This record gives sequence, structure tokens and C-alpha cells, in this order.
Amino acid sequence: MPQTPLELFATEALIGEEDRAIRDTVRTFAEKEIKPHLADWFEAGDVPVRELAPELGRLGVLGMHLEGYGCAGTSATAYGLACMELEAADSGIRSLVSVQGSLAMFAIWKWGSEEQKQEWLPRMAAGEAIGCFGLTEPDFGSNPAGMRTRARRDAPGDENSDWILSGTKMWITNAPVADVAVVWAQTDEGENGKGIRGFVVPTDTPGFSAPVIKQKLSLRASVTGEIVLDDVRLPGSAAFPEVRGLKGPLSCLNEARYGIVFGAVGAARDCLESAIAYAASREIYDKPLAGFQITQTKLADMTLELGKSMLLALQLGRLKDEGTLRPEQISLGKLNNVREAIAIARECRTILAAAGVTLEYPIMRHANNLESVLTYEGTSEVHQLIIGQALTGEAAFR
Ligand SMILES: Cc1cc2nc3c(=O)[nH]c(=O)nc-3n(C[C@H](O)[C@H](O)[C@H](O)COP(=O)(O)OP(=O)(O)OC[C@H]3O[C@@H](n4cnc5c(N)ncnc54)[C@H](O)[C@@H]3O)c2cc1C
Repeated sequence: MPQTPLELFATEALIGEEDRAIRDTVRTFAEKEIKPHLADWFEAGDVPVRELAPELGRLGVLGMHLEGYGCAGTSATAYGLACMELEAADSGIRSLVSVQGSLAMFAIWKWGSEEQKQEWLPRMAAGEAIGCFGLTEPDFGSNPAGMRTRARRDAPGDENSDWILSGTKMWITNAPVADVAVVWAQTDEGENGKGIRGFVVPTDTPGFSAPVIKQKLSLRASVTGEIVLDDVRLPGSAAFPEVRGLKGPLSCLNEARYGIVFGAVGAARDCLESAIAYAASREIYDKPLAGFQITQTKLADMTLELGKSMLLALQLGRLKDEGTLRPEQISLGKLNNVREAIAIARECRTILAAAGVTLEYPIMRHANNLESVLTYEGTSEVHQLIIGQALTGEAAFR
């Protein structure tokens, strides 16, 4: 009886019963409610976020690893495994959940005032309110410290006066459909990024707009937009009270990057399982493609990389559940697992040949999506630099 790639590694034994049950529930949901629509969503370059979010809320995956405020409070490993199952469907759907839970909700949960938490988190956990996270700008992606978005007090020096936000954010997942945006902006409270603060911005505030970014060739089952802030006036209480500088946004990025470590395994697993099934049914020279040595060499090599990625993800999950996971360890996982997932997707596509370039099979959709996953949440190069700094003590970013 043939075994699946991950059965060969016997990784099930490393996952606790409760985490497995959560994983299986998310897998069933993804199989039934998401996968059948993906080809259409991808082709249309759109996804019904408004309808999907309450379903994901009922499933319990929005902010699932956070405690309180209507969140499920699961283990970090369960959250990772949920990301894996969602990304086995599509990276765009996992992105929706990551941005909602790990970026927008986590930012409010970790840095928000009690009032901000009460106002937004329960509705966001239920999928009734959609969040987005605005850090990247047209001229500042990998180096957010240079951001030009400004927040100034209406009455300088008065701690209670309104804030006025102006600037542009770029490549913001869910921005065009969001009810609330967590926006990071430079204040005059410090130079060189030290004065960066986070703001909770209801998207119906006058001066806020979020035009859709069209013609993406990747992550098409995901809504991406700009955020344009044209003198958006917010009350003094809109800023996160304590956190200053890049520590705020980076703490959120670490949460989302962690989810991607698992998510990428899901996309790669789906590619490999599809390629194995295809190779078993496709006859070449009167025998199944799966019976040829070159095919088996490809499958064996990809299985090794998939299994190693899974083991790395589970190890990082264990560290996160223990409370000892460090950012440079997340970089190990993000760099390796996304890079290997893209390599697996491309190799799987060769097994399907012409059939592999269609939406009938998920492989090229995953391959295209993974190009975005390689870039967002820290590019591969940024993660190499983070690991390099951990190894040498030298920061080589600039
Ligand atoms: C589909 C999609 C969704 C996104 N969603 C969001 C979102 O919700 N919120 C958000 O804030 N952002 C989001 N992003 C933006 C994403 O985080 C940025 O694209 C990413 O940080 C890279 O920035 P950049 O594209 O400006 O590239 P740049 O920063 O301009 O990088 C260009 C190249 O330079 C390399 N580079 C950077 N620094 C160095 C260095 N020190 N040495 C050598 N090479 C270097 C990079 O690795 C890259 O190869 C999204 C992006 C995409 C594609």
C-alpha cells in the first residue's frame, strides 16, 4: 500500500491529540468549503472575503491562538497546523486568516488599550469585522523605518488632542474590504523610526480610502490594496498607548511569519500529493508515469524536503508553545520552508507537464502564490540577513 510523503516521516506521532483534532476540522472545512471554489476565485482575481470571514470565525481560526475577547486560545502548534491546512487549499486564504489573526488582531491584543480590545477583538474573532495591517509603503518595504506616513497632533504638545494621519501604504492585504486598519506611522516622538506608533483606524473615517491593486499574477484569491490617508483625523485614544518604534510592527510580523512556516508545508504537500496521484494515473509508453525511475527520483527528493520542512515547523511550534521561540528561529523556518515549497511546486509541475499549467490542478496556482509568500513577511534575503546576524553578531542590513 503506497504511503503519503508525510506518513513516511511518521510526523503524526509528534502532534498531540487536541492539536490533531483541530487540524482535522480545519482540513475538512478547507476540502469542502474552499477548495471547490479556488480555481474560479483565482481566475477572477477576487475572493468573497465578507462571506468567508464569518465562516472562518465559526470555524474558530481567527485569532485562534490568542486568549480572551472571543478568541479560541489554542496552542501555537494548533494554529500552525490550521495555517497548513488553509494553505494546502490556497495561500490567499491562509493570508486572509494570518492578516486578520496574526497581524491586525494580534496588534490590538498585544498593544491596544482595553477599550480598543473590547471594541474590535470579539467582532474580528467572529469574522464580523475585517482587519488589515498597513506597514509597507510604495518606497519602503524591507526597510520600514524609513516610512513617510506621518501622524501629528492637531494641537502639538497636547496629549489629548486629535491625531492627523497622512501618507500612503502599499500592498495591504484585505485593505479594500476592511472595517479597521492597523496603521503604523512616524510621529515626531523620535528620529530614525524610534517615533513610529500604531493607530487603530476605522476605515469609514473621512480621508481614508483603499483602492484595489489589480492585475496580480500571484495570490489572486486574496484582496490587496493601497491605503491612502488624506489628513485622516482620529481621536487621541486611537494610538496604541505604550509601544514605540519598530518593536510594535515586528512583534506582529513574527506571529504571521510563524504561521507561514507551517502554511508553506501545506502548499508543498498539496502539490506533491497531486503530482503523485497524477503520475499514478498518467500512462506514458504503456505504463504509469509513476513507475519510471526519473519520476521516482523527483518524488523521493521532494518528499525529503517536505518532511524536513514539516519537522522544522513542528520543532518551531514546540518552541513557541514553550514560550522560547526567537525571531531568528522563525527566520530559519520561513526561509527554508517557503524556498523549498516553491522548488517542490516547480518540480511537481514538470511531472504534470501541460496539464500542470492549468487551474484544473492546484500546482501552478500554488507556485504562483508562493512567489508572494517568498516576498512578504520579510523577503528571503531579509531572513538570510537575520540568520547571518544571529550567527556572526554583525548586522549587514545596510
Ligand atoms: C500579495 C502581497 C501582500 C502583501 N500584504 C501586505 C500587508 O498586508 N501589509 C504590509 O504592510 N505589507 C504587505 N505586503 C508587502 C510586503 O511585505 C513587501 O513587499 C516586502 O516587505 C518587500 O518589500 P518591497 O516589495 O518594497 O521590496 P524591497 O524592500 O524594495 O526589496 C527589493 C529587493 O531588495 C532586497 N533587499 C532588501 N534589503 C536588502 C539588503 N539589506 N541587502 C540585500 N538585498 C536586500 C529584497 O530582498 C528584494 O529582493 C504584501 C506584499 C504582497 C506581494
